[in-house]
Amino acid sequence: MTSWQGRNVTVAGLGVSGVSAARALAGLGAAVTVVDGGDGETHRARAAELADSGMSVRLGDAETLPEGTDLVVTSPGWKPSSPLFAAAAAAGVDVVGDVEIAWRLRGPDAAPWLAITGTNGKTTTTQMLASILAAAGLRTAAVGNIGTPIVDVVLEGDDAYDVLAVELSSYQLHWAPSLRAHSAAVLNLAPDHLDWHGSMEAYAADKGRIYEGNQVACVYNVADKATEDLVREADVEEGCRAIGFTLNAPAPSQLGVVDGILVDRAFVPDRQKQAQELAEVADVSPPAPHNIANALAAAGLARAFGVQATAVREGLRAFRPDAHRIEHIADVDGVAYIDDSKATNTHAAQASLAAYESIVWVAGGLAKGATFDELVAGAAARLRGVVLIGADRALIREALARHAPEVPVVDLDRTDTGAMSEAVRQAARLARPGDTVLMAPACASMDMFTNYNKRGDAFAAAVRELGASA
Ligand code: ADP
Repeated sequence: MTSWQGRNVTVAGLGVSGVSAARALAGLGAAVTVVDGGDGETHRARAAELADSGMSVRLGDAETLPEGTDLVVTSPGWKPSSPLFAAAAAAGVDVVGDVEIAWRLRGPDAAPWLAITGTNGKTTTTQMLASILAAAGLRTAAVGNIGTPIVDVVLEGDDAYDVLAVELSSYQLHWAPSLRAHSAAVLNLAPDHLDWHGSMEAYAADKGRIYEGNQVACVYNVADKATEDLVREADVEEGCRAIGFTLNAPAPSQLGVVDGILVDRAFVPDRQKQAQELAEVADVSPPAPHNIANALAAAGLARAFGVQATAVREGLRAFRPDAHRIEHIADVDGVAYIDDSKATNTHAAQASLAAYESIVWVAGGLAKGATFDELVAGAAARLRGVVLIGADRALIREALARHAPEVPVVDLDRTDTGAMSEAVRQAARLARPGDTVLMAPACASMDMFTNYNKRGDAFAAAVRELGASA
């Protein structure tokens, strides 16, 4: 670790992970320069703090490589095509991310990493895994893309944890070439962030890096062949196993579901003849199909680490999803109101639309280049009605006209602060007792709201208004 002494490290980006990496490396004796294209008030305030700790900060220029740089540490938001990285490549300087730094900072006895990626379900699965590991009496934390910068956790020292549940984004994987997890899972793969990666192939390849060098298990989704292909392509340690998870009865070396029971047919003494009961579907909250899949993936990683079946059940029972992820807000007049504001892409919305029988769907926002035909065609039979909001709602309306012409659609042509209340009132009007009003927009929120949390809060407030007036 002394190797950081005197090294000239340029950190790209003054965000949470950049600041955490900068502080860590400066603390280890590196000469750190932080660069950021912004030059606003927040940037200046942060810059002043870092300068106080002895670092150099350059604002307003994100493109040129500071003289003498030995290594560039990037933040997730920076695209691989950024001019700074071209300059680094031209100068023969490596570019890595905060996860790579964390990996390199681990000591010889550091806690192993159980790593999770996928287009959707990462945070939920990582939290489920941490809950299971904690139920097994292990000292653990949910870290990485989930919020707690992984560098900070690693710096707590080798004996602070027994094992870490690590959520990794495709961006982080792109910049973490030497990461070698104990075991890892890719939950699913659907087009997302293609503007960053350049193509679906490049996106998949970055996700697939999570399996490189795995020691015990590569956990994949039987229903998503692309995840299994990534396992096949990975270069793993001798003896590392491919473990599938499925919502059907499991084959040998898989975890799956039999008669409402989550079972393990992978980590048992005789997988040809035996299966171990782990938990019941009802132990998983919410018990929607995609979330059962998340639970099976988390269980697979925990079992790969040697966790007992009883701890899987206990951990899943103790787990509660974060807000805005299929969150049940209230029942009003026999209609359930569900906030899935975190469904910011079509793949996520598809999962929650599959979880209910008769739905009034609240959708729309910023489409980010997505198309809606497949989503709408798949859900058409379950739609009681649709309320559309936001900038790109015409794209969904057109898909509805093509694939669900008989479904009533309310198209809300307003984006003011009262728009969500209006949307909820319209949804209530369309709904019948026993229906679910599901806000799973399949779009980003930034056209009308600061972020998906605020969109979810607005929905919940509107439902409460409705309840009060009912
Ligand atoms: P991430 O961290 O990958 O964004 P989250 O756990 O925060 O994932 O869930 C994001 C959204 O994706 C939620 O709104 C949920 O409805 C949906 N989702 C969760 N798990 C899955 C899954 N396994 N497959 C498809 N969609 C999912």
